[in-house]
Amino acid sequence: MKVFASEDRFLVWQVRQLLEDRNIPCFIKNEFAIGGAGDLSPFDCWPEVWITDDGWLPRAKEIIHRWQKELGVGQDWYCPGCGEENAGSFDLCWHCAQERENN
Ligand SMILES: [Zn+2]
Repeated sequence: MKVFASEDRFLVWQVRQLLEDRNIPCFIKNEFAIGGAGDLSPFDCWPEVWITDDGWLPRAKEIIHRWQKELGVGQDWYCPGCGEENAGSFDLCWHCAQERENN
């Protein structure tokens, strides 16, 4: 189950560290992928954090959400695609990578 994706590899590493610090088993996919290759959409190339056991999903989401809020500036917003709440600093939904509706 994917819990986070970003074009910024450092954010992805941070999320993995956050989860590992709390003993949530996780791994990174696409860690060394380079965006913009061929016909792939950029999102197909973004590094992603996955948890190995979906039972951890609520806990992982909570941890990531809190971390995003700490980083965040501006208003939280809800994804028009999947309804997930996102921190104001994010222009794309962390959950499904849909763009923010306004601005
Ligand atoms: Zn979404």
